[in-house]
This record gives sequence, structure tokens and C-alpha cells, in this order.
Amino acid sequence: MKRKRGQFDFDVAIIGGGSGGYAAARTAAAAGLKTVVIEGGREVGGLCILRGCMPTKALLYAAEVKHLAEHAETWGARAGKVSFNFAKVMARKNAQIKDFADFRVQQLNGGKFKFIRANAKFLDAHTVELNSPRSSGRESAPSDQSRLTSAAAITAKHFVIATGSTVAPPPLPQLNEVGFIISDDAVALKKLPKSLIILGGGAIACEFAQFFARFGVQVTLIQRSEHILKEFDGNAGIEIEKVFRREGIRVFTGTRQLDAKRRGKLKTVSFEQNGKTLSASAEEILFALGRVPNTASLNLENAGVKTENGRVITNGKMQTSAPHIFAAGDCTGLHEIVHLAIQQGETAVHSILKPKSPRRMDYRLLISVVFTEPQVAFVGLTEKEAAARKIPFLAASYPFNDHGKSLIMEAKDGFVKLLANPKTGEILGGACVGPSGGELIHEIVAAMAKRMTVHELAAMPHYHPTLAEIWTYPAEELAEKI
Ligand SMILES: Cc1cc2nc3c(=O)[nH]c(=O)nc-3n(C[C@H](O)[C@H](O)[C@H](O)COP(=O)(O)OP(=O)(O)OC[C@H]3O[C@@H](n4cnc5c(N)ncnc54)[C@H](O)[C@@H]3O)c2cc1C
Repeated sequence: MKRKRGQFDFDVAIIGGGSGGYAAARTAAAAGLKTVVIEGGREVGGLCILRGCMPTKALLYAAEVKHLAEHAETWGARAGKVSFNFAKVMARKNAQIKDFADFRVQQLNGGKFKFIRANAKFLDAHTVELNSPRSSGRESAPSDQSRLTSAAAITAKHFVIATGSTVAPPPLPQLNEVGFIISDDAVALKKLPKSLIILGGGAIACEFAQFFARFGVQVTLIQRSEHILKEFDGNAGIEIEKVFRREGIRVFTGTRQLDAKRRGKLKTVSFEQNGKTLSASAEEILFALGRVPNTASLNLENAGVKTENGRVITNGKMQTSAPHIFAAGDCTGLHEIVHLAIQQGETAVHSILKPKSPRRMDYRLLISVVFTEPQVAFVGLTEKEAAARKIPFLAASYPFNDHGKSLIMEAKDGFVKLLANPKTGEILGGACVGPSGGELIHEIVAAMAKRMTVHELAAMPHYHPTLAEIWTYPAEELAEKI
């Protein structure tokens, strides 16, 4: 369908009002583009706020408080027998999520751009059909004003696809018969199961494993690869496995799932490990084997947008194979990390605004954090990646069990590690498996952003006794060598 310039309803239509979509909308509206956000979820807020980052971190923090109280004797304090009220744990989390979501609803309805509650799918390269979403009945009033009464369509000169991800289908069809919960269910439980099998060993699986175990659930974690957290350097996974086993979590790695059955009230998963067939039984199964881009219902072929295994293929400008259509966030299948979804949404709009001098995504400072205790945090290159890409590096690490502040805190698990260019000393990557690792890694993010060398990091003042000063040890070791 060919149209003349200026004949579109909007300059930019953004499909999906999660983190990536909202960032794109805010940027487009601030630049004066006539913008619409189309959001089709049952609730408004996006994955991070409603069922991802925020609820999981609220629950993990509660687990950490309980864990500290149980170990208060270490510091001479007496907390007695620590008990808990799970309904209250969930109520606090729910209240916080409601506040975050209400604020996002306000931002979306703030009038800077049009906000439509509908599911969108492409009719052609410049037109999307809008269908009313299913209601959860839990939304704030303003978004209802934007609810569609019947199917409609809008046209736009540009689009940003930001439809997020959904849980991957289970590899064993038997799991569908036996039944399982996913992370969406796990953050909304009313009652804790007595026992839980977690399938998967990535960030989401590990965070839930520790949360449930610390609240007294008997957890068995079953992972396919040799170690949990396989996307990080091996040592991180080994360290977390050690802590998990110490906290009573049964961890099986290097497995192949064979079958799932229901036996009375229990669900049983059988698997192969080292040539032996083993099985584990629990009241519930948490399926945490990953997510896939949520693009199936968009009719992307009508718009000429190419995909690969469901993920929208984009270039560094976040532009798809259809030059006027961009994408951001989980639907691109690049990284399921919220600050990147935001950066990608902003980059997409900058590319629309300044096609001749667009911004490009740069993943040199890629950060990953797993909010277990100890936390696992990485920035930039890992040793595995540097070796695979044949990038020369020198590495040095230092353990938390030999560091003043972490000894005071009795937080002795883990280490920090730095990777540096062997000729110039520029910091190429950092890892922190340890107390507040997700916070500590940001010192290395800042150093790498400014392309600092290990010599400069070692010379930087660090207050004593802090966790942060641990970075000076590997920095000094590398500075001496380079
Ligand atoms: C349990 C869990 C914990 C996590 N923890 C972290 C963390 O600690 N840190 C971190 O960085 N990341 C974390 N993540 C990942 C993070 O939540 C996601 O990377 C991020 O929220 C993705 O944002 P998005 O904008 O791409 O997608 P979403 O926020 O999912 O937004 C997509 C939106 O599009 C809407 N939509 C879909 N299809 C259509 C359609 N056809 N029409 C209209 N609207 C549509 C959906 O309703 C949704 O609101 C976690 C994820 C999970 C599951």
C-alpha cells in the first residue's frame, strides 16, 4: 500500500509498552515526533516491573534478611528462632510492584504520546491492526480510557517493535502432562511448596533456587551443562554450586532429561548423569530453561521484517530488514537485560531522528548480574570469550576470604577478577562473585567506560576498609606485570 509523505496517522508507532517500548516512546515524544504506544498485555508495566527484575529482587532481598537473621549469632547477636509469614513477604512485594506499575501506567498515560491498549499485528509495512487485549481487571483507571472498543488499524511512518519475550516451550512433552510453573507463577505464589524441582541453571533458575531454599523449600536444581551459570566463566558457576550445596540445595549438572511423571501428589523428573539414570521428585516443578522472543503473532512477514528463530534481526542501529522498522529489547533475542532494552529503544529512535548520523549499540560494556548471594557480576570480556575471540589478555584475581571488609561481614565466598590488555594495561573485563557483586562491578564499568588501565585503577584512592578496595589487588598484580 503506497502512501504520500504526511499521510500516516503517526510518525512512530511503538508496539509494546515495556522497558524498551517506553524508552523509545519517551525519546520520540521528547524530540517532537507524533508517537503512539500500543500495549496488549493483560497488565501494563512490562516484564521487568510486573514479573521480572523487580519482584524477584524484592523476594531475594527478603530471603537475604531472613538468612542474616538466622546467622545473627556469628556477630554475637541473638535473633532467636527465626520464623516468617509468607503472605507478608508476598504482600510487601506486591505493594512495591503495584507502586512501580502504577507509576509506569501514569507515565504511559501522561499525554506526551498516545497510549492505546491493544494487540497489534502488521497488515502491511506501514499499517497495524489493533485488537482489544484481554483484561486482568487489575489496571489503573487511566489506561482504560485508551482501551479499544473494536478492532481498528493505525498507520505510521516508522515502527519500533518491542514485544519482549515469553517462556520457551518445554523440551519434554511429558512436562506439559505433568504440569509445571514458570517464573510468572513463582513470583505470584500464595503458598510455598514443600519441595521444588528447578529445571535450568541460568540466572533466573539460580535466583529462584536460593530464594525458595532460604524459605525452607527442599530445592533440587537440574542443569544440562557441566556447570550452572554456563554463560559466565566456569569459576562463577562452581562457586555458586558450592554455596547452593552448603545451603542444602541438591544440584545436578551435566544431565539429560529423560522423562517426567506424576506419582500421587509428587512430580518426578528422571534424567541421565554420568551414564546413570537418576530421578528427583517434588511437589512442584519450576520450568526455567529460558525464554524466546515474543514475535509469533505480529505477522512480521506482512511488513518485510526478517526473523531468525523468532528473534527480530537488527543491525547496530536497531534497524530491521525493513528500513523504517526498528526493534528493541527481548524480541531481538540479543540479551535479556533491561538496561539494554532501554538503550536499544533509545538507539532505535535516534536512528529514526538522525538517519545520517545514527547511534549504534556498543556491547563492549556488556554487564550481567545474577542476584544470588554471593552475587555474580561480569562486565566486558570473560576469559572464555577472550580465548574464543583470540584476544590477548592477562588476568588476575583475588578471593573475598582474604579481604578485610568481607571477613568482617563473614562474606567469604567468591573472588574478583580483572582482565587487561598485556601491552597497554587497558582493562578489558571484570568479574565479581561476591558480596554486593552487582554494585561492585560498576567501578569496573566506569573504569572501562573511560578506558582506564590497571595502573590507573591501582593508583585510584580506595577507602579502607571497604569491599571496593578489593579491586586494587588484581589491579596491582597486573600493573606489576605490564
Ligand atoms: C524472572 C525474571 C527476572 C529478571 N531479572 C532481571 C534483572 O534482574 N535484571 C535485568 O536486567 N533483567 C532481568 N530480567 C529480564 C528483563 O525483565 C527483560 O530483559 C526486560 O524486561 C525486557 O523488556 P522489553 O521491553 O524487551 O519487554 P517487556 O517488558 O516484556 O515488554 C514487552 C511488552 O510488549 C507487549 N506486547 C507483546 N506483544 C504485543 C503486541 N502484539 N501488541 C501490543 N503489545 C504487545 C507486552 O504485553 C509487554 O508489555 C528478568 C526476567 C525475568 C523473567
